[in-house]
Amino acid sequence: MAVMITDLCINCDSCIDECPATAIVSADDSPIEDAEYTYVKPEKCIECVDSTMPKCADVCPTEGAIVWDMPYTSEYNNYYISRNEEGIYNIRIHKKQGIFSPEKKPKPFREVITIAQREAHEAVQI
Ligand code: SF4
Ligand code: SF4
Repeated sequence: MAVMITDLCINCDSCIDECPATAIVSADDSPIEDAEYTYVKPEKCIECVDSTMPKCADVCPTEGAIVWDMPYTSEYNNYYISRNEEGIYNIRIHKKQGIFSPEKKPKPFREVITIAQREAHEAVQI
């Protein structure tokens, strides 16, 4: 990832159109079964590395609705596979290539955000 959306989300969906990676979907379009909240696809999020701030957090009216998660890199492959198995994520599976796991499809991430901040799922501040 990335960033993830928490249960503080009010489903305003303001973040969806802001995402340069089309990584965000509404609860209705979420790949999570019976989803209640807007969802970020970790296999698509690029942490808006080319911008000053993550664009989703820039428009979000709810502090704490968008938080950091681990880098989507091979080092955290097991983490994401576990989260996927727990149903927290539902990472895309390609017919031929299989699951778009971090080790197969790593994404850019902000090195300035520490692993401790990510483990604590600190809010993405603007
Ligand atoms: S951080 Fe950027 S790429 Fe990731 S979900 Fe938010 S807007 Fe999309
Ligand atoms: S902008 Fe914030 S509150 Fe609105 S849908 Fe996105 S994460 Fe949820």
